[in-house]
Amino acid sequence: MMRVDIFTVAKEIFSGAISKGNIKRAQEKGLLELYVWDLRDFSPDPHRRVDDYPYGGGPGMILKPEPIFYGVRKVLTPQSRIVLLSPQGRIFNQEIAKELSTLPHIILICGHYKGVDERVRDYLIQDEISIGEYVLSGGEIPSLVVLDAVVRLIPGVIGDLESAKGDSFYSDSLDAPYYTRPADFEGIRVPDALLSGNHEAIRKWRAEKRRKRRFYGRDTGFQCGR
Ligand code: SAM
Repeated sequence: MMRVDIFTVAKEIFSGAISKGNIKRAQEKGLLELYVWDLRDFSPDPHRRVDDYPYGGGPGMILKPEPIFYGVRKVLTPQSRIVLLSPQGRIFNQEIAKELSTLPHIILICGHYKGVDERVRDYLIQDEISIGEYVLSGGEIPSLVVLDAVVRLIPGVIGDLESAKGDSFYSDSLDAPYYTRPADFEGIRVPDALLSGNHEAIRKWRAEKRRKRRFYGRDTGFQCGR
């Protein structure tokens, strides 16, 4: 059983996403214990304030250290991995998702505003993950990205883990193309190999497509209708 604790100032962002699909299924199957905490609940401030102005001046607010330290201390165990979502972190990928999926306890801290007080980075967190080189308004969407990618790799969450192993990035290739009915859509036909019923021919066709789509040599220019 994996446990995940998420600390946020925007708890409402999570409600839909965690009550659907694999994240919900993982909880129902007893494979994931998930808690989303409102940082305001750990604020020592009588008005539950969690942000304040930056020392030295400048625009924007900073998440105060106390709610984050106090919240994390409440759930921390010797097995926990404390992760800050941050555009400055290591860039998230399938390897990191695999690594995290083996951990018993992950604590995800969502930054907001201009970010978190630097003492959180210096004295609390153990890992810093970015979901890409762009800046979002908060760590909530990044933490959902990480959570979803990790949860579907926990054995037993998706019906057929072999299916996830065929997905892009699991190994050093991208997934093969897929088609469904109809076999002929406005004159555009599904490749003959897939209609042949010959399992070996289908396996070879998919392997060849995967080989050609190896992501190391990926063509990033997308042309509609190519
Ligand atoms: N001032 C920060 C900087 O430039 O590094 C950006 C702060 S951002 C507006 C607010 C929060 O959103 C961050 O603390 C982080 O938790 C989250 N965030 C934004 N972009 C992100 C990304 N690409 N990956 C992960 N988290 C991100």
